[in-house]
Amino acid sequence: MQGEIITVGTELLLGRIDNTNARYIAERLAQLGIESHFQTVVGDNKKRIIMALEQAAARCDLIIICGGLGPTADDMTLASVAEFLHAKLQVDEHQFSEIKNHFANQQRPMAPENTKQAQYISGATILPNDAGLALGDFYNNETGADVAILPGPPSEMETMMQNHLLPLLSNVYPAQRQLVSRVLRFYGISESVLMHQLDDLVVENANPSIASYAKAHEILIRLTVTAANLDQSKQLLDDTQQQIMARVGEFCYGVGSNNSLVQEVVTKLKEHKLTITAAESLTGGLFQSTICSVAGASNVFSGGFVTYASQAKKNLLQIEAKVIDENGVVSEQTAAAMASQARHLLNADIGISFTGVAGPDSLEGQPAGTVWIGLDTGIGHIQTKLEQYPESDDRQAIREKSVLSGLQLILS
Ligand code: ATP
Ligand code: MG
Repeated sequence: MQGEIITVGTELLLGRIDNTNARYIAERLAQLGIESHFQTVVGDNKKRIIMALEQAAARCDLIIICGGLGPTADDMTLASVAEFLHAKLQVDEHQFSEIKNHFANQQRPMAPENTKQAQYISGATILPNDAGLALGDFYNNETGADVAILPGPPSEMETMMQNHLLPLLSNVYPAQRQLVSRVLRFYGISESVLMHQLDDLVVENANPSIASYAKAHEILIRLTVTAANLDQSKQLLDDTQQQIMARVGEFCYGVGSNNSLVQEVVTKLKEHKLTITAAESLTGGLFQSTICSVAGASNVFSGGFVTYASQAKKNLLQIEAKVIDENGVVSEQTAAAMASQARHLLNADIGISFTGVAGPDSLEGQPAGTVWIGLDTGIGHIQTKLEQYPESDDRQAIREKSVLSGLQLILS
């Protein structure tokens, strides 16, 4: 089953507005399992609208044409579709009186052109407009592609699609295969290395298909499956996920959700009723700010420390001077002491710390990009993790990556 979307409007062709309608319709069709191989944009010109319809009908089963249902002379979609289908236009008396009432209520005269908005294609199913005046249509074509007609204003198009066209399409095309997606989120591996490991799984027409998206410091893999029903799609997704995990599972921190790493952390802490605090040096509060960006952070975070200079680490965190003096500020020992003191002083369940060299200059003989992260969960041993980010990273990248690495340490 293939669909084609035709959006009508000279202002689209001129680039004056974004074609958000095409995007919306395409997404909804995909959810119904209707594939899109082409999208067409055509200006307000009857001859060319009919050409677009003919072209689409030759290569698809369902045409969705959108825009140009208004009352004015440049709105000619309905007349074009009628001519293309060799069908007549009819006036829906109910809608006609609705339109008359609309103008009467507003105490405005109704122009004769507004009658156009009560018209529909003879033989089509009328799609009511819950957000405007012009009717939409669905024409079930015995001899060619079916045609659905939607208004151009996005609010009208979306309500008509949602309330009337989609339910109708799932009735008319009941056997459509469902399209279901699942997202796997990875951290600590580059997109090219990750995809190299999955090379043989990423083949044309694989079901599920596997696509990767690089975001800031994390990689998403989206699995998309088409299947006859949800049980079958779950099975197919589970199988492919298992294959992926066997190869690169150690880098995966989240499955199935659209949650970012920080949302995942806050959700997990909330689930386990745990609180967290932080002592931050090179990240300068970025970790705490990141935690606070999540709604509901107050359930898990009450405060923390930004201790940039050694003196602040000694004074605010009450770290013994000799820990820092003997080991250095960028050291495993200092990271551990920071995490444990923060946890202790704020009486939190978990304390995390960041100390390192954001660059560009080296510090204590350690190159920029050297970062120690400490994690004290109160159960004995304080975990520490050493990161060495590449020289090409600037200060901001080093600080952001440190925060992500800390978040991942919490989840591990
Ligand atoms: P109207 O009664 O408003 O004339 P219409 O069905 O004739 O409705 P158009 O004239 O094509 O629709 O478009 C009306 C408005 O809707 C446009 O000015 C534009 O702002 C918006 N619009 C139309 N098509 C699109 C589209 N493809 N994507 C986003 N917005 C659109
Ligand atoms: Mg118009």
